Amino acid sequence: MDIRIETASSAQRRTKPADESKLVFGNTFSDHMFRMDYRDQQGWTEAKVVPFQNISLDPAAMVLHYGQGIFEGMKAYRRRDGKINLFRPRQNFERMNRSAQRLCMPTIDVDEHFDILETLLRADHEWIPQSRGSSLYIRPTMIASEAHIGVRPAKEYIYYIITGPVGAYYAEGFNPVSIYVSDEFVRAVRGGVGEAKTMGNYAASLLAAEVAKKKGFTQVLWLDGVERRYIEEVGTMNIFFRIEDTLVTPPLTGSILPGITRDTVLTLAKHWGVKVEERMIDIQECVAGIETGKITEVFGSGTAAVISPVGSICYKDKTYTVRDGSVGELARRLNDEIVGIQYGEKEDVFGWVH
Ligand code: PMP
Repeated sequence: MDIRIETASSAQRRTKPADESKLVFGNTFSDHMFRMDYRDQQGWTEAKVVPFQNISLDPAAMVLHYGQGIFEGMKAYRRRDGKINLFRPRQNFERMNRSAQRLCMPTIDVDEHFDILETLLRADHEWIPQSRGSSLYIRPTMIASEAHIGVRPAKEYIYYIITGPVGAYYAEGFNPVSIYVSDEFVRAVRGGVGEAKTMGNYAASLLAAEVAKKKGFTQVLWLDGVERRYIEEVGTMNIFFRIEDTLVTPPLTGSILPGITRDTVLTLAKHWGVKVEERMIDIQECVAGIETGKITEVFGSGTAAVISPVGSICYKDKTYTVRDGSVGELARRLNDEIVGIQYGEKEDVFGWVH
C-alpha cells in the first residue's frame, strides 16, 4: 500500500508529557495521524500519515445525523529492550471489519491495515511511553462523510487513526470497583448493534452510567434487553465470575462486544486447566452466589484495564460484597500473565504479540 508521509514541522509538533505517571487517559495525542478516504467505485484512496489536525466535515455529513461510525481501541507497548509490541492486532482489524459490515460501511484489508498502523507508529515511535504499565493508546475510527440527508448507507467515508500516550491503569494498585446493576436502562439488544464497536452504543450507555455515578458506583452492570435478568457486560468491559471451581462468562449472543481480552482470558484459563463455561448467568444466581460464597471472584476484562476486579455489586438497593472485597487470586494471575505477555516479559505461547 502506498502511504504518503508528511512529517510534522517543529511548529506542528505537540508537547510531550513531562511526567508519564501523571498522564490522564484520552487527553494527550501524538504528533501524527493516519487518514484515508473512501468513495464508491474508487475504494480507499489517498492514504497518508499527516500532522495531527482537524477534520473538515460538511454539516450534512451522514455520521453527524445517522451515526454511521465505528472505532477500535488497542495499544502499543514498549518493551525493556526498546522494541514495540502490539497485542493481537489482527483481532482488532477483524473486529473493525465485522463492525463495518454490520453498519454497511467499507472494510479494510487486514494486511494493509498492518502496513498502515506500522507506518503511523514508526512516525510517532517517540510517543510510546517508556515506563512499564504505560502505553500508546491507538484509536482507529471510520465515519460516514458523505453530505446527504436521508437514511441509507453513505457513499463516502473517512478512516483515520489517532494515538496518544496513556499512563498505567492501576497507578495506585489493583483496586476493586463497585458496580451498580441497571435494571431500567439496557446497553444493547440481540439483533441490534451491541456486538459492533459503533458510536451509538456508547451514547446509549451514558445515562445509566451517570445514574450509577450519582449513587456512588464506578460502573454499570448491564443486563439483557428483554428480561433484564441475564448479565451481559460491566461498563465497557466483558465480565467473568469464578463460581466454585469454574470460570464463567456470558456467551456472545449478539448484544455483547466480543472482547479480545475476553478471548485471551478464556484461552489462558483453559490452558492452565481451569474449567471454563460460556453460559447465561441470571442476576439472581449472581447475588445468591455472592451471598453463599459460591462466587469467589468477579472481574471485568478489556484493553484499558486488562483485568478490573469487582469488589461489590448493588442490585435493587442491596449491596453484595464479593468475598471480602479484596482482589481474587485468578484475577491477579490473569492480569500478571497478560500484562507480562504484552510487555514481552512472559513467554508468548499463543503467538499473540506482533
Ligand atoms: N465491551 C465493550 C462495550 C467495550 O467497549 C470493550 C472495549 N473495547 C470491551 C467490552 C472489551 O473489549 P476488548 O477486550 O477488546 O478491549
